Amino acid sequence: MKVDEIQPWWFLVEPLEGKSISHYLGRFRRANELSPTQLGKISSLGAITSRWEKFRFNPPPNQEQLEALAKVVAIDVDRLAQMLPPKGVGMKLSPIRLCAVCYVENPCHRMEWQFKQTDKCSKHKLRLLSECPNCKARFQIPALWIDGWCSRCFLSFAEMVKSQKAV
Ligand SMILES: [Zn+2]
Ligand SMILES: [Zn+2]
Repeated sequence: MKVDEIQPWWFLVEPLEGKSISHYLGRFRRANELSPTQLGKISSLGAITSRWEKFRFNPPPNQEQLEALAKVVAIDVDRLAQMLPPKGVGMKLSPIRLCAVCYVENPCHRMEWQFKQTDKCSKHKLRLLSECPNCKARFQIPALWIDGWCSRCFLSFAEMVKSQKAV
């Protein structure tokens, strides 16, 4: 067997229901100590995975790209596709939004928060936060969410719950 035929074994990361691809790829990279560039190399997708981490889906991900990534992260293409926006749904690239109540229940960034049409958490009927209520810093892209706190003042997402207003 030639060396390049040996499939490396990666630490696998189980996707959470409703989780966005950005948050998922960040977790996968950290579990495997990969930079965005390295993930691009391994999957042969180049800069595409970094674009997805920033919710840049223009042009939309195609089947071939999803299969290439699915091979690396070892989850079904279908499961991967569920972390992408449905066809025809526009994305809001910034600000990154958060329902802190959702995050406490299930620590991930939910894809639907970045849909253009979304203006609230449909589950909790709360306005989404688009900045830290304490220091007003914008949230980082979810791929960089590690500890679930504001990257500037370290206010935890859990503490932000009391700043969320009902719709
Ligand atoms: Zn919520
Ligand atoms: Zn802050």
